Amino acid sequence: MAPPYANGTRRPYWERRRPAGHLTRNHRLSLTVRSVRPASPYPSGVPPRVAPGHAPVRIHPGAERERRCYDHPHRVIQTACARCRTPFCADCLTPVPPAQASGTVVSGDPACRRCREELAHLAVRRAWDRRPWWQRLRPTWQDMRRAAVTSAIIGAIALPIGVIVREIVASPITPEEFARIAFALRGGFGGPEGTNYLNTVLGGTYLGASAPSATGYEPTRLIDTWATARVPAWRTASALPIELTFALPNQTVANRAILRPHPGEARDTWPRAFEVAFSTVGPSGPWTVVLDTDLDPGTVATPTAPGGATPADDRFVVPSFEVRETPVRWVRLVIRSNGGSRDYTSLGEFEVLYAPRTPLGAPPSVVPGRP
Ligand SMILES: [Zn+2]
Ligand SMILES: [Zn+2]
Repeated sequence: MAPPYANGTRRPYWERRRPAGHLTRNHRLSLTVRSVRPASPYPSGVPPRVAPGHAPVRIHPGAERERRCYDHPHRVIQTACARCRTPFCADCLTPVPPAQASGTVVSGDPACRRCREELAHLAVRRAWDRRPWWQRLRPTWQDMRRAAVTSAIIGAIALPIGVIVREIVASPITPEEFARIAFALRGGFGGPEGTNYLNTVLGGTYLGASAPSATGYEPTRLIDTWATARVPAWRTASALPIELTFALPNQTVANRAILRPHPGEARDTWPRAFEVAFSTVGPSGPWTVVLDTDLDPGTVATPTAPGGATPADDRFVVPSFEVRETPVRWVRLVIRSNGGSRDYTSLGEFEVLYAPRTPLGAPPSVVPGRP
């Protein structure tokens, strides 16, 4: 069945849908009377406002037959707003301009002042919603403010983080700090040659020497745990012999010493004749000489990885010098001669270790002589 009015054609306003929330004056008044006033003896609910003796004129909004203008109640009219259907006189109604026609209201319909204001707002809103895409892409003032606030918050969070990260990246890791990381990754201080107690990670310190060392090749390089090409060696151009004194963090027992030449240094700068002495009294002795021997360059070997590949660790394979088990707190290293260099003497690492008699992990051996 076809609708009585085709789309777009004009139909009477009283057949159009009434917008929600709109009440006519008559509705409002009758609601007020019904809800607020108590039961009244008068059928209208309102006492007649007439002087005694006169015929009562019952002006009763709910029961009134005539339509009166909302703003001019003295005018009895037949016209009304086409949108809210409130009765208004011709003075109060204005035709709707074509640009504001929407929904049930078409161009030229009479509309009250309030409905015209709402229609104007709706028309602006419609135009905003239908604006072309290049205008939609253009940021509004609100968009700019939102973006500014967001970037300010992100900046307030990201800036300190960026500064911290830059500090961490920019500050170089010293060999001593890197040695701590290496020990942590390895899971302990012990190695295949025992535990080296004379290193900066465990608290070992360099105390002094009888002659100066080369700048950039200080004696602390001897106890930084590194004897690789990546970390400089210790060097001295002073005349030999030279005495170097170190301290362990606590008194302990040692039975092994290692002199590890640096792979980046010429062989004739390596120490040859040397002496190691321990003390438990003080950094100036008295000393117990536990080792007095030569470092034979022929016993120092370059490690080779299986398959002939370059080894990851370029440390030399060096002999460890066994000494008798001796309590030790202070250590003195005396280098009497080198491999023949007239320029300087060098060494990568000086270690004082304790290695258990039975290597860790080895099967228990039968001690001879026991029943
Ligand atoms: Zn209206
Ligand atoms: Zn009016």
